This record gives sequence, structure tokens and C-alpha cells, in this order.
Amino acid sequence: MRPFTLHEPTSAAEASALLLERGEAARLYAGGTELLLAMKGGFLPCDHMVNVKTIPGMDAIALDGGALVIGAAATHAAIVRAPIVRERFSLVAQVERRVANVRVRNVGTLAGNLCFAEPHSDPAALLLLYDAEAAVEGASGERRIPIADLQTGPYETALEPGEVMTAIRVRPLPNDARAAYLKFGIHHRPTIGVGAMLRVVDGVVAEARLSLGSVPPMARRLLEAEALLVGERAERLNAESSAVAAAGDAAAAQADAVDDLHGSAEYKRHLVGVFVRRAIAQAAA
Ligand SMILES: Cc1cc2nc3c(=O)[nH]c(=O)nc-3n(C[C@H](O)[C@H](O)[C@H](O)COP(=O)(O)OP(=O)(O)OC[C@H]3O[C@@H](n4cnc5c(N)ncnc54)[C@H](O)[C@@H]3O)c2cc1C
Repeated sequence: MRPFTLHEPTSAAEASALLLERGEAARLYAGGTELLLAMKGGFLPCDHMVNVKTIPGMDAIALDGGALVIGAAATHAAIVRAPIVRERFSLVAQVERRVANVRVRNVGTLAGNLCFAEPHSDPAALLLLYDAEAAVEGASGERRIPIADLQTGPYETALEPGEVMTAIRVRPLPNDARAAYLKFGIHHRPTIGVGAMLRVVDGVVAEARLSLGSVPPMARRLLEAEALLVGERAERLNAESSAVAAAGDAAAAQADAVDDLHGSAEYKRHLVGVFVRRAIAQAAA
């Protein structure tokens, strides 16, 4: 790997200024689990690494008005361990516990996962079930980006040059919500991730959210499949349900699957149908 200078800013504003001064030669660095692999492979030339972990408070995990605020330097392992995540956002803790392996979870961050925008991401799909936002800071101040708008393509985000993600804000699911997330993979990264959230009022689905990750080029909601579930009785959303079967078929048709080392497009469409049906049934139960 070619030599680089490591910068240790003490504020997001200083990190942003360093990025703007050095342009393409500088990269933000958190756990380095993606960045160093890309640099070693020669895909991301970088002469200046700007370490976000030296910014005080950047690793905080706290509640703010009911929302979970996960600092950009918080590792996957710290998120799994945090009592507020386990107690109030248990699905987030469950999913984070199954991201990657223990070595990656111990240094890799949720922010780094989202900012790298690798299509095979569990949090990118999971957070579509929540009204999550990324807080970012740059030369023109602070702003929030809805998680649905953060990724603009494979390895591309809506972050402007010089912008630093400072935190991820996750709002709680509604009290009447039931949710599940299922993943499957044959390599290190997931082949498929499916999230399901059902708001059930008087036994009937009032709102459904389904998310699909790793199969399409970027995680997405499955709006046509969601619409098929609204108005259904939750207790009937099981393996025998025609609405669940129809939602699985609609999801598979919307999957935008391609042939790659995880399998053929046809195989992945089949997986989408199977996992969407299972996720709905699990959330409903
Ligand atoms: C073996 C392996 C298995 C994996 N398995 C899974 C899996 O099962 N599921 C899954 O979802 N993911 C998986 N991953 C991805 C893993 O979650 C990420 O590698 C990790 O979260 C990245 O975080 P990091 O802090 O190391 O990012 P870094 O490598 O430090 O940074 C990644 C990118 O984000 C940018 N960046 C970092 N922080 C900021 C910030 N605050 N603001 C703006 N930009 C920033 C960097 O410039 C870089 O471009 C796997 C990775 C590996 C290596």
C-alpha cells in the first residue's frame, strides 16, 4: 500500500476543511475495513486519511427526543452492546449482531457501511423500515438526508464534497408495529436481506413496509408488494396466505436482480419471493 499522511481532526468542521483542501487525494477513515481493502487493491488512491474517530463524541450512542442517535464513529459491536439499542431498538441490535464477522464488527462502523454504499449492506435495507436520517456536516453547515435518499447508486452517495456524516438518527417504530429482518448469504456479505414492518390496528394491517437489500444495485422499498398487504388480517399472513404469496411474487418482479458471484438473476428472484414471504409471516406473528 502506498504511504499516506494520517490527519487527526478534533471537529467535523476541521475534518471537512481537510477534505476540501486536499480534494480527491483525501478520504475519511473510520474503521478502515472497506477503505483499506480498496486502497490495497489500488482502487482508491489516497494520500491523506482523515480519521473521524479522533473527533470527541463521534462514537456516542444516545437518545434524543425518542430517536436513537448513533455517532458516525460508533462500531457495529458498540451498537450491539449499547443497552438503549438492545432495549428500545432490538431489531437494530439483532441485525447489527449479524453484520460481517467479529473482527469487522469490532472496528467497522455503521456510518462507514452506509457511506461506502456497497450494494450488499444489511443496515441500508433495515433502516428503510425506520424513518432514519443521516446527519451530515460540511462547508455550508449541517443538514439531514433521509436514509432512502442517501445512496444514489452502487458506491455512490448524496454526500457533497467535504461533507462528513456525523450521526445516524433512527426514529422508533410506531407502538403498533411488528417487524422482522431476514438475511441469507453464501459469501462474507449478504446475498439477500429483507425487512418487513407491519402496523396492525384492530388485527388488520394499516401500513406495511418491505425493504430489499443486496439483490438490487441499492436497497429499496417494495411498494407494490406492500400495497397487497394493507387491509389484510395479520393473523392470516402466514405461509398459506394468498396475499403473502402475491406479495412475494410482486417483490420478485421488482427485484432488479443480476447474474453475479452470488448466483444467477433467476436464482435471486426465487430467493426474493421466498424471503419476502417468510419476513412478512415472521413480522405478522
Ligand atoms: C469480510 C467482510 C464481511 C462483511 N459482511 C457484511 C455483512 O454481512 N453485512 C453488511 O451489511 N456489511 C458487511 N460488511 C461491510 C462492513 O459493514 C463495513 O466494512 C464496515 O461497516 C465499514 O465501516 P468502516 O468504519 O470500516 O468504514 P471505512 O472503511 O473506514 O470507510 C468506508 C467508506 O466510508 C467513508 N466514511 C467513513 N466514515 C465516514 C463519515 N463519517 N462520513 C463520510 N464518509 C465516511 C470512507 O471514506 C470510505 O469511503 C462486511 C465487510 C467485510 C470486510
